[in-house]
Amino acid sequence: MSLAALTRLQLGLAVRKADHLERRRLLLDGAQGAHVTINGQRVISFCSNDYLGLAADPALVQAAHAALDQCGVGAGAAHLITGHHRFHHDFEAAFAHFVGKPAALLFSTGYMANLSVLTALCDRHSEVFADKLNHASLVDAAKLSGASFTRFRHHDLAQLEGQLERSTAQEKMIVSDLVFSMDGDLARVDALLDLAERYDAWLYLDDAHGFGILNDGRGGLTERARASDRVIYLATLGKAAGVSGAAVAAHPSVIDWLLQTARPYVYTTASPPLLAACLLESLRQIEAGEARRERLRSHILHLREGLVGLKIGTLMPSDTPIQPLLIGTNADAMQVSRSLLQRGLLVPAIRTPTVQLNTARLRITLSAAHSADDVAQLIAALHEAV
Ligand SMILES: *Cc1c(COP(=O)(O)O)cnc(C)c1O
Repeated sequence: MSLAALTRLQLGLAVRKADHLERRRLLLDGAQGAHVTINGQRVISFCSNDYLGLAADPALVQAAHAALDQCGVGAGAAHLITGHHRFHHDFEAAFAHFVGKPAALLFSTGYMANLSVLTALCDRHSEVFADKLNHASLVDAAKLSGASFTRFRHHDLAQLEGQLERSTAQEKMIVSDLVFSMDGDLARVDALLDLAERYDAWLYLDDAHGFGILNDGRGGLTERARASDRVIYLATLGKAAGVSGAAVAAHPSVIDWLLQTARPYVYTTASPPLLAACLLESLRQIEAGEARRERLRSHILHLREGLVGLKIGTLMPSDTPIQPLLIGTNADAMQVSRSLLQRGLLVPAIRTPTVQLNTARLRITLSAAHSADDVAQLIAALHEAV
């Protein structure tokens, strides 16, 4: 690399820092949970996606120990060579059954699953229609697919319909987060499905934040969407499920096509089978998880009631564990986040470019692992913050 290129990087880093956009990693010791040690400080964490408190659950830890003794650590090969273990296979069947779809495929991460679905099902003859607030991995996947990429304003289905009407693409795919990751609101699944049917499009729904939570844990699909061959469903498994990976559920021919052609599936080592064993246990915990979901619902109500009349920001409308507190500028959001941290409460600021200019926010996430007192402490600290 020439020295000039290195200087440009250093300049770029300095600009990010001056714009309050510099990203730094917090250092976690011990297990993930509601109470964690971050940079050596004990804090109450309101920022993980471990919504059900399963990431360090004893039943999952035990499943990991048991599987480790049976199958070791590494998968050793890609799924299509010798890496496809019975644990992976059993999880796929159990997952498909649970979410009410005929078949499923397990991926190492949600990012890779999104790359797989869009690049395998779309090409330069396709058009992808995407809600503007979709997750970054869906944007990257659409671009990589070579399809023309058309975005519609958040929830603006009239605009989407106009775009579908004008499209001359051979294949159309409507793509949406099911629960929007920075806002906590839900896609209008049946209305999207109506449009997909009217214009003969696929409907791909990324339910990273709804699986394990909505509809007794089965995720945000409606009954019609479960039954529709044109709906392709993604759940990521590192959030409420508490483990790692992602699963796509769809018509068996879609799943077979992904298995045959999705490059991020074919050309990568299978995830460690012990993780799939943990996922099987996680699925059991999610199915029997009504008490966890009830605790989570009561925390959401408690927080929303407690923050009525707050001066420094406004809670955005959301019934999910994602409860964003809109602040405004990057600098103000950072300031509130820092003052909370001084009181032992970890709530990171989400800034541009992740969200639009002047909509910087604290992305508060709640978990069944929190106690009512944890939530009460956050409410009190926010009322005292300036
Ligand atoms: C987290 C997330 C992903 C990526 O999933 P990983 O398993 O973390 O790679 C994809 N889509 C959405 C909406 C997400 O929130």
